[in-house]
Amino acid sequence: MRDFCFEVAIIGGGPAGTATGIALKNLGIDSVFIVEAGTYSKPKIGESIPPNTQTLFQRLNIFDAFSSQHHEPCLGSYSCWGSTQLGFNDNLFNPYGAGWHLDRRRFDLFLARQFKALSGALVDNTRFSNLSVMKNDLYPIKLSFENHPDVCCRFVVDATGQSAKVARKFGAAVSMQDLMVSFAAYFDCQDTHLNENKLTLLEAVEQGWWYCASIPNNLQVVSLTTDIAVAKKLKLKQPENWYSLLKHSKHINNRIEGSAFPNRLNSWKTPSSLLSPPAGNGWLAVGDAAACYDPISSQGIYKALANGLQAAKAIALWLNGDANGLTEYRNKVVKDFVNYLEQRDYFYGQEQRWLEAEFWVKRRAYLAGLKYG
Ligand SMILES: Cc1cc2nc3c(=O)[nH]c(=O)nc-3n(C[C@H](O)[C@H](O)[C@H](O)COP(=O)(O)OP(=O)(O)OC[C@H]3O[C@@H](n4cnc5c(N)ncnc54)[C@H](O)[C@@H]3O)c2cc1C
Repeated sequence: MRDFCFEVAIIGGGPAGTATGIALKNLGIDSVFIVEAGTYSKPKIGESIPPNTQTLFQRLNIFDAFSSQHHEPCLGSYSCWGSTQLGFNDNLFNPYGAGWHLDRRRFDLFLARQFKALSGALVDNTRFSNLSVMKNDLYPIKLSFENHPDVCCRFVVDATGQSAKVARKFGAAVSMQDLMVSFAAYFDCQDTHLNENKLTLLEAVEQGWWYCASIPNNLQVVSLTTDIAVAKKLKLKQPENWYSLLKHSKHINNRIEGSAFPNRLNSWKTPSSLLSPPAGNGWLAVGDAAACYDPISSQGIYKALANGLQAAKAIALWLNGDANGLTEYRNKVVKDFVNYLEQRDYFYGQEQRWLEAEFWVKRRAYLAGLKYG
């Protein structure tokens, strides 16, 4: 192939994009190019991964390398959901042992380096802007970038996260099942015993739910996930309003007692959405570009890695003239999303303490009427 022409171009170098790249390389597809808009230097949210992620690392042939990164173990979780009592779920009897609290910035960089170690081509600080389909067929595809010469490829992977920027150019649309927002602050626990606590903590409240977990550098991340309308009414963008709600929580407030409020909030949209369709001739989407799950599931990164493995198989078949893998991939993404919605509905349905509160009324409305399919 001539310069800047690849078999597969992957747009987005987060966990889904790099896992797809690694899996393609493992299948013997040599000519794979990843383009990442960022530089792996900014902090990212999305830290806890379940113990069975180990199986995906093994299938990607990176488990030993991942283990040597020494991310914090996640020994289990407490939750106050559906009653005032704290329930405990530990990973002691899990056949895979503990999960992990990831340092996301370091984790994303690690995956990018694993891809490069397989002679994968990756450029960062480069943003995809558009594509065109040449020769009146769906390939080759010409991709353009803000600060890089054009690239052409036979197959393109959308791994751009929630924006699904590439798939939209192929006419795919995002079907939104629910949309919430999370506000998070990082508490410095340098001088406290708090970071000895390696259990995540979940607490439902009238306005949504709180989450607290230890992360590297003696920090605790504390987030509130709520409805967008509720957030606007309570002016939660203002740190003092968020903090005053935190003071009314029972368990989360106890957990960070004694550490100073950092006075700075980050916010993220937290949709439950499915891309329709998640794949077509010459392209597919992986990770959050294909489907976004509520962070309560702690499944986002697991799904990103699993999609990467499934996608690579489908792409390898397609490059050999067999489109059946793409159909299978599309069906799998939809089936997993339906399963996820059922689990989510069950979980939110367990909380019956605030039947009149807007956050819970709206979640029940989603349970009752807005199911996918
Ligand atoms: C508040 C919150 C809490 C969460 N907690 C958890 C958790 O505890 N556990 C868990 O497993 N998941 C969690 N998640 C979900 C998890 O963060 C995501 O599912 C995961 O990051 C998805 O990986 P991805 O590679 O699909 O997308 P991303 O990680 O979003 O990566 C997409 C990449 O594409 C790049 N990109 C975007 N546009 C372009 C472009 N035009 N050109 C080039 N590159 C581009 C971006 O820079 C980015 O690096 C949480 C999410 C939120 C919002």
